[in-house]
Amino acid sequence: MSAPLLFVGARQVVTCAGPARARHGAEMRDAGVRTGVAVLVRGDDVEDVGPERALAAAHPHAAIIDCAGGVLTPGFVDSHTHAIFGRPRYEEQELRAAGMPYMEIARRGGGIHASVRDLRSQHEDDLVVLARPRLGQLAASGVTTVEVKSGYGLSLEHELATLRVARRLAAALPMRVVPTWLGAHEIPLEFRERTRGRQEYVELLVHEMLPRVAAERLARFADVFCEPGVFTIEESREILLAARAAGLGVKLHADELESSGAAELAAQIGATSADHLAAVSDVGIAALAAADTVATLLPATMLFLGRQQQAPARRMIESGVAVALATDFNPGTSPTTNFPLVLTLGVSQLRLSCAEAIVAATVNGAAALGLASNVGQLAPGFSADLALWDVEDVRELPYWLGAGRCRASWTRGKPCHPRDLALAS
Ligand SMILES: [Zn+2]
Repeated sequence: MSAPLLFVGARQVVTCAGPARARHGAEMRDAGVRTGVAVLVRGDDVEDVGPERALAAAHPHAAIIDCAGGVLTPGFVDSHTHAIFGRPRYEEQELRAAGMPYMEIARRGGGIHASVRDLRSQHEDDLVVLARPRLGQLAASGVTTVEVKSGYGLSLEHELATLRVARRLAAALPMRVVPTWLGAHEIPLEFRERTRGRQEYVELLVHEMLPRVAAERLARFADVFCEPGVFTIEESREILLAARAAGLGVKLHADELESSGAAELAAQIGATSADHLAAVSDVGIAALAAADTVATLLPATMLFLGRQQQAPARRMIESGVAVALATDFNPGTSPTTNFPLVLTLGVSQLRLSCAEAIVAATVNGAAALGLASNVGQLAPGFSADLALWDVEDVRELPYWLGAGRCRASWTRGKPCHPRDLALAS
């Protein structure tokens, strides 16, 4: 085995160390900021975090990585993205700014259906070529684990193709890629136009797509866009229970625009996460607080859409909900790969403290992907996923609005962000 790595010279090491599960409510207030410590990495894992001199003396043959006064954090977990798509949809932005509602944009051939038409016209190899640098941008903003959803295929052929793209990216990149099947992102137009189209599409999802996705082990999770006008509570329940029976974990796009009981459904069926939640009800918050379901909040989406309404994060945390933060990176409503910007929005829009935002981006992001037992902390036995920042204090991460100050990142002890290649050699 190659020599261990010893990360020295960090002004702060943010460990997020603690129980290997989602942090709820007041537990989110402690991000475990330490000074004078080094991090020892052996193979894929963190072996020790302790006083720098003692660790250096005990491991004289370790390869030294000098953090040069920067801040070391666990790599961020972006637990909600739609990173596999064809062309961007920039033309919709000014229509929206001019006041055109989404339904009208969709009627004119925009919205999700535009991305579906486009993805279906792309070759799998081209989708890999398009997605790879996007994930590289996430890695360059401190993300070492990324969830990637399908959902612009909406046919057996194209959903499987999207998930194969995710598999190829996972094999090609150092970062950890977690694939989610989102065949239930929208009812495709060819089904919407038919009288029994809705039922037929749900049957296709449950009886044709899901068995193939499960048999070929193409996804770890299934997700449904549960929102009035898209999938109903009953349809979402049927799809997700079938997915659970087929061995997948379940997630839910819940209560983004209207409160429809989706958060309650997520809690009731034990979903790993309920995502968006800008319109969640008090009953929904109470249900999430009583369940093991992580509330994944996506403040960049509401910002980009120009909406005033953000998820009631403070009420959630004060009710004991475990909150995670993610980019929702997608071509329609959140075209950003800037994870630190999401931290900024977590503080300025959702009113989290810096520590809460960091915990939401690490431990709780990992929990939103069922990975909290070995991802999201700089602690012995955890995956060596780290990000090194050109700042002096962790509170600068959400402070420098829109800045990219990630100097380097590693997943499983391997360089993940190009700028670190020289540093690690
Ligand atoms: Zn989404």
